[in-house]
Amino acid sequence: MTSANAAATGEPPPQNLTLSAAFEGIEGSYSHAVLSAYAARRGVTFVPLGCSSFRGVAHAVLAGKADLGLLPVDNAIAGTIREGYDALAEYELDLLAEITWRMDHRLLGVPGATIDGLREIDSHPVVLAECGRFLGSLVEVRRVPVPDTGVAARDVAAAGDASRGAIASSDAGRRFGLVELANTIADHPDNFTRFVLFRAPDARGLAADFEPAQNFADRKTSLVFAVADIPGALGRCLSILGAHGLNVSKLDSKTRLGTSGQSSFYVDVDGDVRDERFAEALRALRDVTVALHVIGSYDASSAAARVRRAPAVVIDAAPAVAPQPAKHAFPKVTRREHHGKARVRVGDVVVGDGHFVVVGGPCSVESREQILATAEAVAASGAVMLRGGAFKPRTSPYAFQGLGWDGVALLAEAGRATGLPIVSEVMSVEQVERMAASVDVLQIGARNMQNFDLLKAVGKTDRPILLKRGMAASIDELLSAAEYILAEGNPNVILCERGIRTFETATRNTLDLSAIPVLRERTHLPVMVDPSHGVGVRRWIAPLCRAAKAVGAHGLLIEVHPNPSEAKSDADQALTFGDFAQVMRELKDVPLVH
Ligand code: PEP
Ligand code: MN
Repeated sequence: MTSANAAATGEPPPQNLTLSAAFEGIEGSYSHAVLSAYAARRGVTFVPLGCSSFRGVAHAVLAGKADLGLLPVDNAIAGTIREGYDALAEYELDLLAEITWRMDHRLLGVPGATIDGLREIDSHPVVLAECGRFLGSLVEVRRVPVPDTGVAARDVAAAGDASRGAIASSDAGRRFGLVELANTIADHPDNFTRFVLFRAPDARGLAADFEPAQNFADRKTSLVFAVADIPGALGRCLSILGAHGLNVSKLDSKTRLGTSGQSSFYVDVDGDVRDERFAEALRALRDVTVALHVIGSYDASSAAARVRRAPAVVIDAAPAVAPQPAKHAFPKVTRREHHGKARVRVGDVVVGDGHFVVVGGPCSVESREQILATAEAVAASGAVMLRGGAFKPRTSPYAFQGLGWDGVALLAEAGRATGLPIVSEVMSVEQVERMAASVDVLQIGARNMQNFDLLKAVGKTDRPILLKRGMAASIDELLSAAEYILAEGNPNVILCERGIRTFETATRNTLDLSAIPVLRERTHLPVMVDPSHGVGVRRWIAPLCRAAKAVGAHGLLIEVHPNPSEAKSDADQALTFGDFAQVMRELKDVPLVH
């Protein structure tokens, strides 16, 4: 028993009982393992009663042949186990608890068998589905569905045939003398199955184990209802549950052969029917459904056992599911309630939230004439902010490094002259305070995306930040960098995709436009695109501007120069004033993605 599965069965109250429990399959099946673990945790003697069908399990309990019954209803990979829900819905049973169990499948064979030598693998059809990827990697192996995993292990052992394998638990392997040929063979390590434990409605005892003391927080209710096939009927039902503060954790359609004009659904709802809110919701649901049946309310506290354990060791040369990298936590940049409402204000300019904005200007501020002329030109074409670097992060120490604070002053003058807010890069912690006093938006350049001290410093300012993606940074790393800024209390971060390094050399970088829909899904922060650095070649910038808007960017950052060939930095990618005006006209025809 894994620790996750141990936790799934709760704490043991001291009892001195014999418990007979019905399940589908034979000893060695997963249901049997779940019941054994449950009985062990409660310190009771378990008398197993294997049945040949799901309905047989319900019958055994209702006929008093077993105190308890257990049926699987749902698997994380294979989905709803309809037969389980159907059996629970069909009979009057008293549902007690759901048990969430990690299905730790092993490929088993007789001693001496090898994976390469297998020609047939037996298991329960749902388990075969859970291991689809692994099985797909084996050539010329037939998948044979059998009633349960215990039967698969037993039959392979009895045949003594090294060309046959079974997928079952390690417990089944031990029980039938089989050896493990591979483990970690499910498509995903979070391969949980939900089982529901129940008893006959008139049974005594046991239920107290699952009764909530006062509140219904850790309980769940399964329902089945039918609605007429008219638009909005299902939506109304869900709205009623939502309006009563009830979370729906599962919704699945139920086949209804021979019934036309209506559809039935299985629904799991957090809470208990004895809760007044729940009862009220049910009354309202009855008015909008054709049929409504409460299958039962039960303890759902074992859901807390869904913890990931360390990846298991591969026993043979079988392909293993790669361990998942630890997920970074970005609590502040992934505020779901704000999705689609990305918005950062820069003076009167709103970035995001239905506005598409263009920021134009030279790579570097070079002279008073250059920046004033550029500011006038981009403003006339519809840019809403002016960019210009004064501190330049150049690859070579001998390349033009920018005009420094003089450049900042010139940029500020151009901003005042045109009324455009200004954006400029801040390269070091020492520059932050003075820069924040001088410009409207602080740009963090690609090369500094993971300069964590700098991120913390700008996070303490009250200026919006334009955070450019590092040229070798993943989307997760970009989000983590933004999280640094938000964690310091500055919520106003605009992300900027500006191309990443790939094997491609035809373009300066590879503009990763796929990042835009991904970021829009993962964060509420607005996302801009800088096609200038992304592609690095003037004539390819216009199509990428249109693509960026079409794919959902909230705006563009474009380099513009009065005389690109004379530019002191990034000459190849600067647009002329005419090019820029043309791009701005073309963008009007590209629909905005809301
Ligand atoms: C820039 O915007 O001029 C710049 C240096 O960009 P990046 O940091 O994306 O290279
Ligand atoms: Mn540049």
